[in-house]
Amino acid sequence: MSRSGLLVDGFGRIHTDLRISVTDRCNLRCTYCMPLEVTFKPREELLTYEEITRVARVAAGLGIRTIRLTGGEPLLRRDLAQLVRQLVAVPGITEVALTTNGLLLADQAASLRQAGLTRLNVSLDSLREDVFERIARRSGVDRVLAGLAVARREGFDDIRINAVSIKGLTEGEIVPLARFCRAEGFHLRFIEFMPLDAEHAWEKSQVLSGADVRALLEAQVGPLVAVTAADAGQPAVDYRWGDGTGRVGFIDPVSHPFCDRCDRLRLTADGQLRNCLFSTVEWDVRHVLRIAGDDAEIVSLLRECVAAKRAAHGIDTPTFERPARAMYQIGG
Ligand code: SAM
Ligand code: SF4
Repeated sequence: MSRSGLLVDGFGRIHTDLRISVTDRCNLRCTYCMPLEVTFKPREELLTYEEITRVARVAAGLGIRTIRLTGGEPLLRRDLAQLVRQLVAVPGITEVALTTNGLLLADQAASLRQAGLTRLNVSLDSLREDVFERIARRSGVDRVLAGLAVARREGFDDIRINAVSIKGLTEGEIVPLARFCRAEGFHLRFIEFMPLDAEHAWEKSQVLSGADVRALLEAQVGPLVAVTAADAGQPAVDYRWGDGTGRVGFIDPVSHPFCDRCDRLRLTADGQLRNCLFSTVEWDVRHVLRIAGDDAEIVSLLRECVAAKRAAHGIDTPTFERPARAMYQIGG
């Protein structure tokens, strides 16, 4: 495909990854993501699987190759495996991945695997139920662990565990999570806390940096050796333990923004295209879909969205403006 056919922004970044949120609903209430009391979008405002697949097909024609399903909690959407089947069949799509909190994974891992889901990320911030509940404001560790066990039994390998790092809250979870993931063969990734919480409580001082987490791991578990990334667009910097085992990654959007190599676009559950997690502008693809617009109109929206992408999120700049939507409404 020639470069002109691709989704290239004003800074030369080629977009090959589409993050699709399938719902804003969730069975947890993580403090860094959702409010405790929440009004969800009415169902009719959410894109149907047919609508999502159509956008994916058009985007694949413009060079999108990988898709990640997210939310809210994607496994709350009925028969998600059906959507996976549809997306896997889109010409040009090489990978369909899922980010989930894992609570419903034990029941759905088999059907997702059979549907062709390529990759699985499970979010787990703590192995201790009391800390999990303090963060997620609901219980769940045992169900997440059961989901992980079933997922592995069903043949998902290279499962990634995502853990958000927050100063004063998660320090005690880092080493136990690392030991657990090393023993179980899960790829652990620590993510810095971003200003996308619904309660607008984020402060820079709460960001526990990837460097601090790494220092703690090296002091208490052992040396980490950097691994060269196979995929340049990959935001995580990965390490192995000194003995060559395990894999620990750090996604540091606050301390080390990776905007210069960002290849992602986002589609919210209610059908809005976004060019950044921190975008304050959206492109209404649902409107085009529901007025029976043609594919060329979807192409135009995708191109407009990409063309308007800023160089960087600018969290650290005085002009930084928080997006109106919180993480659960965008899709992480
Ligand atoms: N419910 C699913 C889950 O928790 O995996 C998918 C959606 S969730 C929004 C996707 C990822 O975003 C999770 O790994 C979550 O920990 C992360 N996340 C949510 N809010 C965040 C924030 N303010 N800063 C950093 N990561 C965040
Ligand atoms: Fe739900 Fe995931 Fe947000 Fe937690 S991070 S509230 S599990 S959407």
